[in-house]
Order: sequence, then structure tokens, then C-alpha cells
Amino acid sequence: MANTYRNFLQTEIEFLKGVGPARADLLKKELNIFTYRDLLMHFPFRYVDRSKIWAIRDLDDQMPYIQVKGVLQNYKKEGIGKSMRAKATLNDGTGHIELVWFQGLKWLDDFVKNGQTYIAFGKPSVFRNIISITHPELSLPEREKFETGIQPVYSITEKMRARNFDSRAIAKVCHTLVHHPEFYIQENLPDSILDNLQLVNRKMALKNIHFPENIDMANAAIDRLKFEELFFLQLKILHYKQQVSSQKTNIIVTQIGEQFNNFYNTKLPFELTDAQKKVLKEIRTDLGLGKQMNRLLQGDVGSGKTIVALLSMLMMADNNYQCCLMAPTEILATQHYKSISELLYDTGITCRLLTGSTSNSVRKDIDANLLNGEIHILIGTHALIEDKVQFRNLGLAVIDEQHRFGVAQRYKLWKKNQEPPHILVMTATPIPRTLAMTLYGDLDISVIDQLPQGRKPIRSVHRYLRGLSDVYTFIKTQIAEGRQIYIVYPLIDESEKLDYEHLMGGYEELKQIFPEPQYTMGMVHGKMKPKEKENVMSHFAKGDIHILVATTVIEVGVNVPNASVMMLMSAERFGLSQMHQLRGRVGRGVDQSFCILVTGDKLGADTRKRLKTMVDTTDGFVIAEVDMELRGPGDLEGTRQSGMLDLKLASISVDHKWVALSRQQAQELLVIDPLLQLPENSNTSKYFELYKRQNGDWGRVS
Ligand code: ADP
Ligand code: MG
Repeated sequence: MANTYRNFLQTEIEFLKGVGPARADLLKKELNIFTYRDLLMHFPFRYVDRSKIWAIRDLDDQMPYIQVKGVLQNYKKEGIGKSMRAKATLNDGTGHIELVWFQGLKWLDDFVKNGQTYIAFGKPSVFRNIISITHPELSLPEREKFETGIQPVYSITEKMRARNFDSRAIAKVCHTLVHHPEFYIQENLPDSILDNLQLVNRKMALKNIHFPENIDMANAAIDRLKFEELFFLQLKILHYKQQVSSQKTNIIVTQIGEQFNNFYNTKLPFELTDAQKKVLKEIRTDLGLGKQMNRLLQGDVGSGKTIVALLSMLMMADNNYQCCLMAPTEILATQHYKSISELLYDTGITCRLLTGSTSNSVRKDIDANLLNGEIHILIGTHALIEDKVQFRNLGLAVIDEQHRFGVAQRYKLWKKNQEPPHILVMTATPIPRTLAMTLYGDLDISVIDQLPQGRKPIRSVHRYLRGLSDVYTFIKTQIAEGRQIYIVYPLIDESEKLDYEHLMGGYEELKQIFPEPQYTMGMVHGKMKPKEKENVMSHFAKGDIHILVATTVIEVGVNVPNASVMMLMSAERFGLSQMHQLRGRVGRGVDQSFCILVTGDKLGADTRKRLKTMVDTTDGFVIAEVDMELRGPGDLEGTRQSGMLDLKLASISVDHKWVALSRQQAQELLVIDPLLQLPENSNTSKYFELYKRQNGDWGRVS
């Protein structure tokens, strides 16, 4: 074995003293630990303080894991068969506790001797005034050194437990590893950063995260490693962004032309909000720079992103470029197509729709006219990114409701042209800042932080099932006033069939309450063909239907200004951001709108918090923060697939400080040394290359 640090850490795990073939096999199969490095990176998930031995008389059942030392007596077994248990008492002169075991009794028989002194470790509980510890860890007082002080606790699997390869055993082999004479860790952060942020060095951190001298050292080690983890992620994102934004392009908006001006002055049905104007200027600047634009447009539901996109597309059209607008669902794409072609009526700008259900003959026609440049704006679904869709000169690709698309798909659009088109990504899911820095860290961000004038804030209430009849009465008065209603049922992941039955059952009941011909109802759900869905939706949009009963398929983007009530059935089953999205379907017209959250009586604390947040605020950013806090960032919509949040130590939702610091430090480093070529950054550079290889390079852009 060569004596370099890389080779040492790459050594296969079975070579480590105390591991051997059987345990190596377990480590590989159960924990994916193949090498010394893997073991070193298997961090404990918590610590227990074994530096202190408690007096038994001081124990109570509020304590965490503790240890006591005393003489064991009265070891005996009770019960038979499966209910057999072992019991003993432990006496330390200040009092006694009971020890109880249900498993591993055979091993106990061999190990436990009455009259012997042991250290017992576990969580005390109290039953009938007797303090006991169930399944204490027992050890003899003269223990190995690594078992005193702050102890790491590692995750293990059932299989490992069954083979007596427990957290302690892992601690033991880890201890061997970090005390191996060849153990060597290369620093991977620049000295300046270590100094600035007062971080411990890498070797110290990796030793102390497993075996800290005290809790402060454990925290210092964790902080350092969290920072490192986030720093290299940010470095990767920013490095990528740097590659992208240095991409020169000939796709330039040199002038604001006739189409834009005509539309702006004579066709625009309303005055833009200041926020819309600001964002439009940002886009206008980007498009004129001769550099590829990659911009994220964030704006709460109803803030008017579509018109900004359309105006941007008109700028391109005036400079003889084509544009496309991609939406996540057929319904949305169709709706965009309709509203945009209406707005463009008589302007000479040609707009077409391409989705999965576009017929072959129409498709052929679209293909031909895309290539000869007759089509100026193509609107559609994922169908747009298929390779066979070829443009003559695509200049701008707009992606609506980004959270339904993965990062990879975003980059597919680049390939649509000889020169990558400008990209404008729009999302109505407000994203907490730290998350945006990560998920969209390669994009420049614009925010529409203002709703069009005259919108009345939606009133949200929480109602119980038992109060449903009042709700229905209210809905009837709304309908009498000419309004329309959404009633949405949740998707229950376990079974599509159940969802369907749930929805159908609800629909039948509602029919009794809102009988024809006085009331008309329609239904949309995931099982319907796009054409059928669209048919119902367009009836609703036209006002032919009073009540639209739906699953969450209507979640994004659909725009029916006359709808004034959004009623969510079994609201306890909806996520917070999802409820906010759905609520955004109403409040688009001049009338007062309502969101009614209906639940059963039994609600958990998290559910109450979700409902209360909905009732208290309509601010999407506040909602996003609470959502992230409740669920963690990994569960937020669209982040799951990204893989960017698979972090070992750091959490985007908790470690705001470290996310911001890592971003800032990575940024500063790249400003000074964009290609990491300075000698003082050579360790960082080497590690970064390795990091990119292990964590998936997003590939070269060109
Ligand atoms: P979102 O940002 O959720 O995609 P839309 O673009 O669908 O929102 O806009 C919501 C509604 O607001 C549309 O009916 C749109 O025509 C209207 N709208 C957009 N901008 C303005 C504005 N400045 N003044 C008034 N109404 C506007
Ligand atoms: Mg929209």
C-alpha cells in the first residue's frame, strides 16, 4: 500500500484491523461502506456523554441516555418463550435501579455475574416509583479508552444488530482508523477561509466528528464539515454559472421594435405593475448583452408572470427570433396558447400549440413551419424538448412553473439551437432564499413582489366536516351571485384507485346537495384523457359550470377570474405549498374570494400549523419558509429529484448561516481565482476535481 493519503483512504475496508471478511461484508451490503474513506464519512448521528457517571439517587425519567456504575445483583429470568425477560438490580450505594432485557438473553447468561461491578448505560424510566433502564448496555469498568467521554452513536441496520455489529463496534473500528499510523488528511479549503471563519482544519474535524474531546469540539467539527459540504456544492453551482454566463451569444435584442411597441401601447389590457416593469427591464438588459440569459422569474400566483414572458417574446420577435413557452401540463399549455393567441390577434405574430396529443398531420405542419420560421411562438408541454422539434432560430425559451421540470430538462433546451437560446424560468412557488441559492444557484433571479392593483386578499378559513352544511349554504349564495367554485380532493399516494373512489364518492354526494338543473357540476381528474379534461375545463372557464370538482390536476396556472371559492376537502392531506398554489386559483377577479379548508376533528400539531399558516397569511414566501421548516427541503415540491439536496450533514432549511457563508466564500474565491489556478488554492482545486467526479458533473455547456 502506497503511503499517499488518497491511496490510504481508498484501501478496502476488510484490511482494517477488527473488520475482517464477515464484517466487511456487512459494512458493504448494509451501509455501502467499501473503503476507509467510506467509513470515515459514516458520521455519527448523535453523541452520548459517557464522561460522567451519575449517582443513582439523582436519576429521574426526564434524563437522556446516562450511565451509572454499581454492583449487579439478583440476576434472574422471568416468563417463558417469547415473553421471557431477564432482570437484575444495580446498586451504587446511593440507591438502586432495575435493569431489564427482552433480547440477547443468551449472551447475558454468559456475561452477567451477580456481585460484579458494571457500568450500565441507557435511558432511565420510572414505573411504579422504581427507576429502571430497559436494554442497558453493560460494560466492565476497565474499558477501552475510546469508550469514555463523548461517545458517537452510528446508524446501523437490523441485520447488523442481529449479528452483534452495533454502534459500539463501529465506533471501535472507526477509532482504529483515525489512529492508524498512516492516517493522513489533506486540507481542502484555502487557509484564508479557514482563518476568516475560524474553522478547524480538516483532519481535526474528521477526527473530532467521531471522537470529540468535548461537545464544543464536536460542534466545531460538525460546523467545519457542514461548511465544507456546502462550499463545494456552491463552488460547483457557481463554477457552472460562470461557464454559462461567459457563453457569448449572437442572439441579441438590438432594438425594441414595432411589435413590442404596438402591443405595449395599444393591446396591453392593463397597466403593468412596477414590479413587472422592473423585471421586464432586467430581462431587456440581459437580452441586449450578447451573453446568454439564464434567469429565474419568481412571482407569487397571480402576480402576472405570463404577460412579462409574452412581452419578452415580442422583443425577440422584433429581432427575428423564435420563442417557445413550455408548461408542465397539457391544460396549462392549452390555456397559455389560448390567452396568448387572443392577445396576439391581428398582430401578425404566429403562435402554435404542440403537446403530446397533437395529431401527426398537425405536427408535420408545425415541424415544417418551425423550420421555415413561419411560427414565431411555439407553446407546449414536454413535447417541445423532444429532439425532433427543430427551430429555425430559437432565441428565447420560457419555462413556466419550473418546479415540475428537473434541472436536466432545463439544459436540454439549450441544445435546441446552434447557439443556446436565452432561458427564462418562471415559478410561482416562492422558494426560501437559501434553497433558491442552491436549487437555482446557477440562475440570476428576478422577483415580482407585488400583485396587480385592485385584488382583494383572499379570505381563508378552516372548517370542520361537522360544519359542512353551513359551508354549502355559503357556496350557494356565492353561486347565486354569479360566482364559480372549485372543490378539490387530495391525492392519496398509496392507491390511485382509492383517490378515484374518494373523488367519485364526493362527487355523488355533492350532486345531492347541488342538484341539477339548478346547479351544474363538472369533474376533472388524472385518469381522464387530456381532451376530456380540457373540455370540462373550458366549460368551466366559459362559465357553463358552477362547481368544478377536481383532484390536484388543476393545481398550477389555471386562470378563471370568475371563480371565487376554493374549497379543499381533507385539507389535512395537502402540503402547505400545495394549498397555497390551489388558493391562488381564486382571487384573480374583482370579487372577494374565499379559501375554505375542510378537515376532520383529529388533527396533529403539524397539520394545525399548516392550517393556521394558511389562514394567517397569503404571503408565499412566509408559507414557503414554514413549509420548509415543517418538512425539510428535501420534500418540497420539485426538489426531490434534483439530488442537490442529498447532503450528509448540512440542511438547507436549518443551516441558513452556513448556506449563505458558503455561497459568499465560494463567490469571493472565484472572483479572485476563477479557474482555481493560484498555488494557494491547489488543494481546493484538486479536491474540487475529485468532488465533481464523485458527485456528477453537469457536463460542459457547449
Ligand atoms: P401568474 O404569475 O400566476 O402566472 P398570470 O400571469 O396568470 O399570473 O396573471 C394572473 C392574472 O392577472 C391574469 O388574468 C392576467 O391577465 C392578470 N394581470 C397580469 N398583470 C396584470 C396587471 N398589471 N394588472 C392587472 N391584471 C394583470
Ligand atoms: Mg402562470
